[in-house]
Amino acid sequence: MNPVVASLAETDVVSRVEKGLLVDGRWCAATGDGRFAVENPATGQALCEVSDGTPDDALAALDAAAAAQADWAAVPPRRRGEILRRAYDLLIERKDEFALLITLEMGKSLTESRAEVDYGANYLRWFGEEAVRIDGSWKVSEDGTARVLVTRQPVGPCLLITPWNAPLAMPARKIGPAVAAGCTMIVKPAPQTPLTTAALAAVLTEAGLPDGVLNVVPTTQAAAITERLLEDGRLRKLSFTGSTPVGRLLLSQAAGTVLRTSMELGGNAPFIVCRDADIDAAVEGAMTAKLRNVGEACIAANRFHVHAAVAEEFSEKLVARMRTITVGPGTDPATDLGPLIDERQRRRVAGLVDETVGAGAQVRAGGLLPAGAGYFYPPTVLTGVPAGTRITREEIFGPVAAIRTFTTEAEALHDANDTEFGLVGYLYTRDLSQALRMSEQLETGMVGLNRGYVSDPSAPFGGMKQSGIGREGGNTGIDEYLEQKYIAIHTGSAQRQ
Ligand code: NAD
Repeated sequence: MNPVVASLAETDVVSRVEKGLLVDGRWCAATGDGRFAVENPATGQALCEVSDGTPDDALAALDAAAAAQADWAAVPPRRRGEILRRAYDLLIERKDEFALLITLEMGKSLTESRAEVDYGANYLRWFGEEAVRIDGSWKVSEDGTARVLVTRQPVGPCLLITPWNAPLAMPARKIGPAVAAGCTMIVKPAPQTPLTTAALAAVLTEAGLPDGVLNVVPTTQAAAITERLLEDGRLRKLSFTGSTPVGRLLLSQAAGTVLRTSMELGGNAPFIVCRDADIDAAVEGAMTAKLRNVGEACIAANRFHVHAAVAEEFSEKLVARMRTITVGPGTDPATDLGPLIDERQRRRVAGLVDETVGAGAQVRAGGLLPAGAGYFYPPTVLTGVPAGTRITREEIFGPVAAIRTFTTEAEALHDANDTEFGLVGYLYTRDLSQALRMSEQLETGMVGLNRGYVSDPSAPFGGMKQSGIGREGGNTGIDEYLEQKYIAIHTGSAQRQ
């Protein structure tokens, strides 16, 4: 691994980002002027400090969002769409700068960060196009004496809470539909990665978003801030992306005001390789599904279930591919795999690997903590992973492939579905009937069929079971930010020509 020295471009990109809170169109310091440090996971050193928002600051942000709501809802849909489209153009123009910022605070390689800028920007473009397609319906009532008019209107001020693993795409996936629907919002970014969200908010402001529509409150006091906002009747919606335990807690708190909620929670994706699969394609899919985002993705393949007849071939080829991966600081152009987010996460991953090896699994690649600064962990392949081990039950959130075998389709499906999570499943087979049968029986919101990648702004992203409630993206993503209103119109008679 190369030593990391902050280049001029790195210092510059960090210095240009706003470090305060965005409230009612103004960047300001937190009440009491508290600050917290943002760390570079490749060095373990602080990049800068940002304002540490308090519950009072969150209330000020809600005041701004509530005050702006009516005027914002009245802005023509075409104008809302144009703002999103302009923000898309600005993000693409500044892709390299945004990519560097993502890499600096989150760790992934620049190639991956550029891909995240495309992915996040595409949500803004997609929802910019959806803003002008919010429709309703009209019909004759069942008994013919009335007309049923259904319109849709914005739900109102939203709280959008995002994780650190995709600091541009996760807020964009929520801000895009909220803006398109005509909602105002407060964004609470993860404390590990507030810089990219601040830069995104600045772009949206530059693109023409009026004051108060988008407010941003970085904080280390997530629980205190959220509690205060959730008990305030002016807040109408909570959209959360993060871990299942925090999602459960927020759902119980949201019950107090019967808040509309969207929950994008944790995953534990099975990756099934059937006997007839194209093994080379499965290995390439596995590399994407496992190593994308340093393995720190809700849709990361977590458990590999490989037919016993092809397990050795698949494992050997996967090990060979993993050995080609260059680990290093994301800012180094030669790097394929950057560091994990922090030392706590690295210790968790190392602990899971050690525990699994202790239970009888074999390490076929990686598995050893590198020396030196930064939170690096090598691409790791474990075979012979015993059933029921913690690594098969919990999200690994690291570059570790845990391989088990199966012999029948029923066994593969049983093992794949044997989890409280249900976000995504990956399936490799060349048998069309088996592909459809198994896809239908996987208890997941998404299936990657002969494909290690499912993220797509035009598709409904989301999970079943304890992986969440609701969908982001696709034709229905905007529905999460709209209320239906039915107007019963008395006519007294059936429709005539
Ligand atoms: P996390 O649950 O720890 O934190 C997510 C966000 O919630 C952060 O902004 C955090 O500050 C905030 N938070 C934490 N405790 C809170 C509380 N008590 N009240 C209010 N807010 C609180 O998750 P993370 O470690 O940041 O992200 C990783 C998790 O996110 C993984 O479980 C991953 O699977 C999940 N995730 C899911 C999706 C999806 O679309 N389903 C996408 C990305 C990440």
